[in-house]
Amino acid sequence: MKILVVEDETRIAQFIEMGLREQGWQVDVQHRGDEAMAALQNRVYDLAILDIMLPGRDGLSILRQLREQANHVPVILLTARTTLNERIEGLQLGADDYVTKPFYVEELIARIQAVMRRSSGHEQSQRQVGPLVLNLPRREVRVNGREIEMTAREFNLLEYLTRSPGRVYTRTQILERVWDLHFDPSTNIVDVYIQRLRKKIGPEESLIETVRGVGYRIRTDAAEELPQ
Ligand code: CA
Repeated sequence: MKILVVEDETRIAQFIEMGLREQGWQVDVQHRGDEAMAALQNRVYDLAILDIMLPGRDGLSILRQLREQANHVPVILLTARTTLNERIEGLQLGADDYVTKPFYVEELIARIQAVMRRSSGHEQSQRQVGPLVLNLPRREVRVNGREIEMTAREFNLLEYLTRSPGRVYTRTQILERVWDLHFDPSTNIVDVYIQRLRKKIGPEESLIETVRGVGYRIRTDAAEELPQ
């Protein structure tokens, strides 16, 4: 699980980062609101911890823009005890929860776990994209009803791409999420795996589109074929 922590007070940011890393989670930290917004638009996080009072840009306006852009990354706000209006506004804007400062990191972790349980409860165990059906808990893939054998890495790649059909995933994002590589090596491993996936899904290979010079996406007209 990958979490973005946005908090300008270095000491608090450090203690949150330490606590979350001890849970085995990947953590990125941003101290400025404007840079946090850029990070949220360029990378995919499972959850964001968002302080409200920030230099550059405040947390509520970040949350507002995310939701306007249909970005539903779970968000937990960090709020001051005195600011009831901010908490209410945050929840109305689509925050998943808030934690009032000062707090114990154990409380924050419990909130994160609760939010993740709720959001994964909404996720169906089957994901259908046109002729493609992924059974997530069983890690099975079917194309037009035919089961396709996949390695763990191939499945992870396909699962990642199908999270948001139509959205372009860059090679760097894919390397980070599927291979956990945090640099931009001159490797063509992503392209090699995409070719393997295309070969395996055979006649439906055009589902995976190349966006020249950027990365890959799942064709959106496939998404529109989703059953009601
Ligand atoms: Ca602050």
